Amino acid sequence: MKPRRILLVYPEVPRETYWSFKYALSFIHKKSAMPPLGLVTVASYIPASYQVRLVDENIERLTAKDLDWADMVFVSAMIVQKNSFERVVARARAAGKTVVAGGPYPSGSREEISGVDHFILGEAEEMIPEFFADLEKGRAREIYRAAEKPDMAAARIPRFELLRMKSYASMSIQYSRGCPFHCEFCDIWKVYGNRPRLKSAPAVIAELSALYKLGWRGAVFMVDDNFIGNKARVKDELLPALISWQKANRHPFRFFTEASINLADDDALLSAMRDAAFNEVFIGIETPSMEGLTETGKTQNLKCDMSAAVKKIQSYGIEVMAGFILGFDSDTQDIAERQIAFIQKTGIARAMVGLLTALPGTELYQRLEREGRLLSASDGNNTSKAASNFVTRMDPEDLRRRFCKVLDTIYDENLKNYFERCNMILDNMSHSEVPPRQIHLAELLMAVRSLARQPFTPYGRQYLKFIIRNLKNPAVFGEAVKFSIVGHHLHTITRQLVQ
Ligand code: SF4
Repeated sequence: MKPRRILLVYPEVPRETYWSFKYALSFIHKKSAMPPLGLVTVASYIPASYQVRLVDENIERLTAKDLDWADMVFVSAMIVQKNSFERVVARARAAGKTVVAGGPYPSGSREEISGVDHFILGEAEEMIPEFFADLEKGRAREIYRAAEKPDMAAARIPRFELLRMKSYASMSIQYSRGCPFHCEFCDIWKVYGNRPRLKSAPAVIAELSALYKLGWRGAVFMVDDNFIGNKARVKDELLPALISWQKANRHPFRFFTEASINLADDDALLSAMRDAAFNEVFIGIETPSMEGLTETGKTQNLKCDMSAAVKKIQSYGIEVMAGFILGFDSDTQDIAERQIAFIQKTGIARAMVGLLTALPGTELYQRLEREGRLLSASDGNNTSKAASNFVTRMDPEDLRRRFCKVLDTIYDENLKNYFERCNMILDNMSHSEVPPRQIHLAELLMAVRSLARQPFTPYGRQYLKFIIRNLKNPAVFGEAVKFSIVGHHLHTITRQLVQ
C-alpha cells in the first residue's frame, strides 16, 4: 500500500537559551515563541490525497501513537536542533517509517546525517510536488535539491490550520527571502541570494486573512531576514496594503521583523511601518567598532551613525532589538566596555549578544578554513559561552570573560540597567503616534501574573520602581509589563550563564 499518512515533526529547540524566551512564556501560559512556519509551508505543497498531521515537540510530546498513525515522517530542523533531530529520526526509523528530512540543518550537513530515506534540500517548495510524483511511481530518489530558487510570488498559503495556535506567543509569515548585503559571518545571502524574492501584497494579505479567520489576534512575526531588502516594493505595495487591512479589521495584529540599519534612512518607510503596526524590529548592529564592521563586511553599518539610526527608528515608536557580536579578529581589549556603552546609551532593551561563530556555507567559514583556524562544527547557538568554533585572535578565556561581562552588565543582578533602557523606549513610544490596538484578556492576565510574582524576585525593587513609573501612562503600560516578563527571562538565562 502506498504511504498516505504524513506526520510532520518539528524537533525540540534547546530551551535554556536567550532565544527561547522560555521564562517569559510562563507568564502568558504559552509553550513556544513561534510556530514551525517551514513545515506548515511544506504541508501546503503535499497533494490533497494525503492526510497530514503536525507534531511540534516544542509544545507537545511526540508519542508512539503519533508514529503508529504515520506512514511517512517529515522532519525539518535548524543546526541548533541537531540533537533532537537525530532523536526524532532514530525513533521514526525504529518504528519502521519512511523518513524525509529538510530544512537548514539537513541542507547544510547532509553528509553527517544517517537514517534518512529522502532528503529535500534547499528551498523545498518546488521539489515537493516532484518528490510526490516520483513516490507515486515507486521511484523516489534519495536526494532532491532545488536547482532554482523558487519564485516567492507563486508561494501557497501555509496550512496554518495544522497549528495548535493557542500554544504560541506569536504567529509567523514570510514576505521575502534573500538579502542584498554580504556580511561575512551570515549564510542568508549565500543560501537565499542577494536579490530579494518577494510575495505580492495580495498574497501577504491572504495569509493574514487566513490567520485572522482561524481566530489569531496579537503578534505576527514577519520572518524575513531583511524585510527591507527591496525597499521600494515594501513601501509602495506591501505597507499601504497592510495599513488598509489593519484599519479595516481594527488592528488585530502587531508585527515584528528583522531589517538592516538603512531602515533609518527613510522616514516614509518608517512612518508606514509604524502605521501598519510594526512595533519591533531586530537589527544586526554587531559591534560599535569600525574595524570589526569592516572586517565582517557590514558596509551598511559603516555608512551611518548607528546610534543616531537606532534613535531615529525608536522615535517612530518601534522598539529596536539588536544583535551584537564579540570575537572579531580586530576586537581590542576594551570591546566589552564599548559594547556596553553603545547598548546602554541607545536604549536597546533586548540586546542579543553572541560570540562570533563560523557557520558552514559562510565566507567566514571558508576564510577560517583557509587559515587553518576552524576547530569544530557550530551547535547553532551563538549566545553560549562555548560558541566560538575557531581559533580566536583574543585569548579564548579573555574573550569569554568579556562576553560574560557584557551580559552581566546589561542584564545586571537587579536589572537596573535593563529597566533604564526600557524606560527610554517607553518614553519614545508615548511620544509617537502609534496606531491604536486591541488589548486582549491574555495581556491583562499577564499583568496580574507579573505583579504577583516579580516583586519577590532578586530584582523586585527595580521592577516595582519601573512599574510605578509607567503606571501613570496607560498608553504604554501593557508594553511595560511585556518588558518586565521578557526581563525575567533575560535575567534568568544571564544568571545561569555568568555563574
Ligand atoms: S544584513 Fe543581515 S541578513 Fe543581510 S547579509 Fe547581513 S547579517 Fe545577513
